[in-house]
Amino acid sequence: MREAAGLLERGRAVGVEAVRDGRTLRINASREVVLALGAIQTPSVLMRSGIGDENELRTFGIPVVQHLPGVGQNLQDHVSFGCIWEYREPIAPRNTGNGATLYWKSDSALKSPDLLFCQVEFPVPSPETASRAPAHGWMMFAGLALPKSRGRVRLRNAEPLATPRIEANMLSHPDDVKTAIACVDVCRALGNTRAFEPLVARESMPGPLGGAEMERFVRDSAVTYWHQICSAKMGRDAMSVVDGKLKVYGIDRLRIADGSVMPRITTGNTMAPCVIIGEKAARALRDEHDI
Ligand SMILES: Cc1cc2nc3c(=O)[nH]c(=O)nc-3n(C[C@H](O)[C@H](O)[C@H](O)COP(=O)(O)OP(=O)(O)OC[C@H]3O[C@@H](n4cnc5c(N)ncnc54)[C@H](O)[C@@H]3O)c2cc1C
Repeated sequence: MREAAGLLERGRAVGVEAVRDGRTLRINASREVVLALGAIQTPSVLMRSGIGDENELRTFGIPVVQHLPGVGQNLQDHVSFGCIWEYREPIAPRNTGNGATLYWKSDSALKSPDLLFCQVEFPVPSPETASRAPAHGWMMFAGLALPKSRGRVRLRNAEPLATPRIEANMLSHPDDVKTAIACVDVCRALGNTRAFEPLVARESMPGPLGGAEMERFVRDSAVTYWHQICSAKMGRDAMSVVDGKLKVYGIDRLRIADGSVMPRITTGNTMAPCVIIGEKAARALRDEHDI
């Protein structure tokens, strides 16, 4: 299946339309439709099917089936910054390539960690910092466990096969910049300890930078942690897309069972919570349809 779009009749989901090998297939649902396309494609399919912010949908000439302004909004990710050291001797990555993970607080008064980072056996520079990355390096991947910035997923047009526009909006909240710099400071303090000396020829980036230069480094080096999530959130406010049973507001027989329903990103990695969302959805379907 290359692409999917929801089929709706009189406010009820009745199936999906999919393109496979160039052919359009219509797949009818006997009980209900469950979208589990991830935080980028689930809101895209909803919007193309007429479920989303009415003004946004009208811009693309999509007939509005249900006005839900939260569709595609509230996008979150554990944005990260590669602090990179050049290996003294090149070492090939082993196992997962990730030796250690640490959760830490930028302020001990916080209830839960706002910094996350993992030590990685290879560098992950951004396009902006790639020219400064060594041929053989390792990295402290400094990240934000509780980012405050919010992005969004939008359509480019009404075409089913068009890729959506992802506005990640990383570091748009000023607190995230401060927390990012705190995280880079912790990574540098650890990476430059004597314990790592046998592995280090030199610190490639960022080095000992001051205020504005360090802010430029975090902005230049910011990359996704591949944890995009929260773009069709569960809740009760006007920006919520699904209720506590994962049902899309205003549409009958349509549920979402993926990371897009999270109201805010988890402090830790996102895959396990997505599995739990899937299990919750399976239980709700079993209970409701007596399967
Ligand atoms: C490179 C990478 C590394 C990661 N590493 C980790 C990690 O180490 N630990 C961790 O916890 N998390 C990790 N994650 C994040 C984790 O994989 C995601 O948070 C999680 O898989 C999200 O689950 P989901 O169900 O929301 O969506 P997904 O797992 O993305 O599932 C969506 C599915 O829908 C399919 N799909 C999408 N659009 C369409 C369409 N239009 N038609 C038909 N099918 C469609 C996709 O092919 C996919 O199979 C990583 C992610 C990436 C990309």
